[in-house]
Amino acid sequence: MSTAPKQLVIISGKGGTGKTSLAAAIAHLAAGELPIVIADADVDAANLDLVLHPTRLESHPFSNGLVAEIDEEKCISCGLCEEACRFDAILVPDRTGDPYGIDEVACDGCAACVYHCPVEAITMREPQVGEWYLSETPYGPLYHAHLFAGADNSGKLVTLVKQQAKLRAMDDGRPLVVVDGPPGIGCPVISAASGADLALIVVEPTLSGAHDLARVLELTDHFGVPALVAINKGDLSEQQSAAIEAFCRERGVALSVRIPYDTLVTEAMVAGQPITAWAESPAAQAIRALWATIKARLGLQGKE
Ligand code: SF4
Ligand code: SF4
Repeated sequence: MSTAPKQLVIISGKGGTGKTSLAAAIAHLAAGELPIVIADADVDAANLDLVLHPTRLESHPFSNGLVAEIDEEKCISCGLCEEACRFDAILVPDRTGDPYGIDEVACDGCAACVYHCPVEAITMREPQVGEWYLSETPYGPLYHAHLFAGADNSGKLVTLVKQQAKLRAMDDGRPLVVVDGPPGIGCPVISAASGADLALIVVEPTLSGAHDLARVLELTDHFGVPALVAINKGDLSEQQSAAIEAFCRERGVALSVRIPYDTLVTEAMVAGQPITAWAESPAAQAIRALWATIKARLGLQGKE
């Protein structure tokens, strides 16, 4: 019987903390020791592929919810659907001569119009609102996705990407799924973090850093996900780093080593490489120590 893989999710209270660079570096280090699967759960702004250079193997449509659709050939312009719709989603003909139509953004999918139409001109359909992909990277299979502009419920797409990654890990006997989560504390982050064995929370030493961290910790606590905190560019503010460390001690949250500011990280990003594959720099060394901590926390066996 296949065993469930460990799931590491990398999240942050806001964007721009270096979360994705760190996720790419952890994926690189992890893949050097054990077979992994990678999931980019930041479906609103996926960018892990900029560093992992995936080769796309599969694309799949992602549909969500229902919207009404009017068959112009059948419609007799009676207007009953407009009266039935509580969401103002029926587009009424005007002087332009357009027929009755549906405002897909406003449509709630309630189907009331379907039942009121006397000539069965309205049907419900599942619109495609995004795509999800399987790609191959030098570090293992990558599951990622793209939600079309204006589409909502990215949490559902995040769940789908994670499920696919987990199933692949189970099928192949890969012991770890590395999930690059979305920033913030909204629905997609909840989907990314739920069921994880460990959340690595990336924070920068800024005034808002401790505040952002507190919000994310409320979320991980709520879902019972153990957390580990990494202060990225920790040496940029000794005062703020110390404040975050004190906060972590108070909350009883494990703190990893600080990752120092390192110009080679930017150089590696420009070159499209994880920093740990690019140079043995101070940041790379700190991330190696972080990976050793993660491995121990997850009880994973890898090379020492
Ligand atoms: S499905 Fe409901 S919300 Fe959508 S157009 Fe029909 S009545 Fe309006
Ligand atoms: S209820 Fe049916 S026939 Fe009447 S306007 Fe709407 S779509 Fe056309």
